[in-house]
This record gives sequence, C-alpha cells and structure tokens, in this order.
Amino acid sequence: MAAILVFAAPPAAHAQQAAGERPEVAAAAQAVGDKVVAWRRDIHAHPELGNRETRTAALVADHLRALGLEPKTGIATTGVTAVLKGGRPGPRIALRADMDALPVTERTDVPFASKVTTTFRGQQTGVMHACGHDAHTSVLMGVAEALVAMKDELPGEVMFIFQPAEEGPPDGEEGGAEEMLAQGIFSDFKPEAVFGLHVFSTLGAGRIGVHAGPTMAASDRFNIVVKGRQTHGSRPWGGIDPVVAAADLIGTAQTVVSRRQDISKQPVVLSFGAINGGIRYNIIPDQVEMVGTIRTFDEDMRQGVFADLKNVAEKVAQAHGATAVAQVPDTKGNPVTVNDPALTARMLPSLQKVVGADNVVDPGLTMGAEDFSFYAREVPGLFFFVGATPRDQDPKTAPSNHSPEFFLDESALDIGVRALLQVSLDYLNDPPRS
Ligand SMILES: [Zn+2]
Ligand SMILES: [Zn+2]
Repeated sequence: MAAILVFAAPPAAHAQQAAGERPEVAAAAQAVGDKVVAWRRDIHAHPELGNRETRTAALVADHLRALGLEPKTGIATTGVTAVLKGGRPGPRIALRADMDALPVTERTDVPFASKVTTTFRGQQTGVMHACGHDAHTSVLMGVAEALVAMKDELPGEVMFIFQPAEEGPPDGEEGGAEEMLAQGIFSDFKPEAVFGLHVFSTLGAGRIGVHAGPTMAASDRFNIVVKGRQTHGSRPWGGIDPVVAAADLIGTAQTVVSRRQDISKQPVVLSFGAINGGIRYNIIPDQVEMVGTIRTFDEDMRQGVFADLKNVAEKVAQAHGATAVAQVPDTKGNPVTVNDPALTARMLPSLQKVVGADNVVDPGLTMGAEDFSFYAREVPGLFFFVGATPRDQDPKTAPSNHSPEFFLDESALDIGVRALLQVSLDYLNDPPRS
C-alpha cells in the first residue's frame, strides 16, 4: 500500500520519554527495544508469503507462550491470537499485526536482507518484507511482552491478533482479516475497539500519520472478456472484431467515474491494468480480456461503479455486435478502511504524546487499501501510519512500500511500540463512557 501524500523534513528523534507520555510506556519500550529490533531483522531475513507464514507464526506463538499466554494457532491457515487478562476490571481491546511478505526480490544492502526465493504463479521470484509487515509483527510481539509485564495493574483485556495474508491469499485460497473473522475470533472475544499501525515510506521517520473517517480506499478487481468472432485482418466484415469493441469499451469506461460519480464527495479511481487479445498482426482474435482496479471511499459509490462499469461493458460490446462477460468485481475486495471519528479524536492526544503534536500529521486520503478494514467494520477501529523513511532522505522520492529497495528506519519500531502501548493504556485506563 502506498500513501499519496508526502511529508518532508522529518524531525529529530525522540529517544527518551516525550512530554505527556506515560512513564511506564517509555520504560517498557526501552526494556523490549533491542528484542524488537532483533525479531524484526530475523523475520526480515526469513520472509514468507501469505498463508505460508509458518515460521513467523511459530516464532510469534512461542513468544506468546513464553510470556505465559495461551495462543490459538492455525486460524485462517497461519494466524495466531492470544488474550491477556489484566489484573483489574476494564474494557476489551484488540491489537492487530500482519505477518506476510511479498513476491519481490530484495535490492537493499542491509546485512539481514532476504535471500529467500520461491515460485509464484509459475515464476521464480525473491520474497521480501517490502511492505514492512516484519515491523508490525515484531512491534506487536514487543507490545505483548510489555503489557504482560504490567499485567497485575492492567485494567481490562487485550487480544493480540497476528494475521496472515494481508496482501491477499494465494489463488484459490481464503485468507487474511476476513477469514480470521469468519473463523470467529471476534465471536469468542468481542473488543470495544481495534487498533493497528502501518509503516510507510511516504512519511519521514519520527512522524505519525492519522486521518479520521474513511482513510484508505476500498480496493476491488474487475475482469471483462469481450467476445467476438475470429476473422482475417483483411476481412473484418467476416467476423466480429473484439479489439475495436474493447478499445471503445475502455474509452467509454472513463465516463463511469468522470460523468456518473459525484467526485466532489469522495475520489474514485478506475484503472485498466492489463489487456490481452490476439497473437498475430493480421488475425482478428475471438476475444479480448481486460483486468483492472477500482478504488472508492464510499459504499454507495463503490456499488454504483460496479453497476455502471458492468453496464458500459455489456452495452458497448453489444453496440459492436459482440458480447461482454463482465465480472465487476471478480473477487472479494477490501472495503474502505474507516477510522471511527470519535475513537480517532479520543486517541489523537495519545499519539501526540509519543512523538509530539507537531509530528502527528493528517495524510488525507490514501488510495491504497488495507484488510484492517474488515475488523474496523465489526467494531470501532483506529489505523495509523508510522514514518519509515530515514531523516536524511526525502519521503517523496524514497523507494515506496512494495519496492525492492523499500527501507525501514528502525526508529519506527520504537515509535510503533510506544504508540500502541500509549493508545492501549490510555484507552484501558479511561474508556469512553456510554
Ligand atoms: Zn502492502
Ligand atoms: Zn502492508
């Protein structure tokens, strides 16, 4: 996922306790800091693709067991959860990290760079934590250790969620947040609020980004096949040309957003990513297949784009004497990630206490998507961004998440631990009154 807005001139590091930060947060972050860095480097050197995170899940489960928790494993293939019961009564919250890596061949020169390779959709590729999920997993392992150490004083209960396949499961498999929920993690333990974070290259190290309301886009794929009838390129009247119909369809599809959606309300993006049809310059093929993506921030607009694109595909094809089979969407997408406005307003001071008010920025809308959205659809959620780009680099031009050169400034680990701890303790000690 990549944020669209960029913040330059990262501030100086906050190594010690920030103004207003809970003293136990600074102390706990200090106590687990070296371990979090070591876990992150170990996980980074041993990345695993979605639904294949067996080593990572074992590392997590062993750690939780060593802390005296009783983790549940094998949820949605490799997911792990555990519940910490505090010594005092209080609310229930959930903290979520994702564990999967990407089919990307790493091109950084860190000593713990991944050398792992695999076969992905029939192609040889490297495997890399190019989205920073290694950071999320190690941060939550550190937060779990810190909260267990405070157990006797802790009000309420905390569920730790270590989730597979945020980037999507392999073809033909279920996975990710939706599957964790389908397997009942919130039926056994219904939290009042769920919190998560993501490291981003577009934010300088030392900064936290948070946006209230819809924050990351819904992401949906589509697949359209235009079917004509093959003929010789010299005799188009002898068949039905799906290439010209497809070209017309792609042109008209641009009006689905520009003429039919109220983009003064929320932005919408519709992009074609691949077109395949034909094999030789003088053969008009039988069919043309197109795939693409739709990004929206509003459920009605999302459904409107689905209906209009399907309609355009079918009617334009029909006008050419062809037919279109339009699967819009063709798989289950990610819904909009919504930061509950009241929860966001309530927890904003907690984030500000960790890095200073000047260093908490509103990044606006992000066209990237997150399956954290599924949890935040069940209970009020807050998903915030932690800056990953080193202070001597420009976040505008730094290699982005998913790049083979994505580089994490490890100060993000300390900030991630402190931010999740501060948010958790502030919420648990002073829950909203209903
Ligand atoms: Zn990603
Ligand atoms: Zn990610």
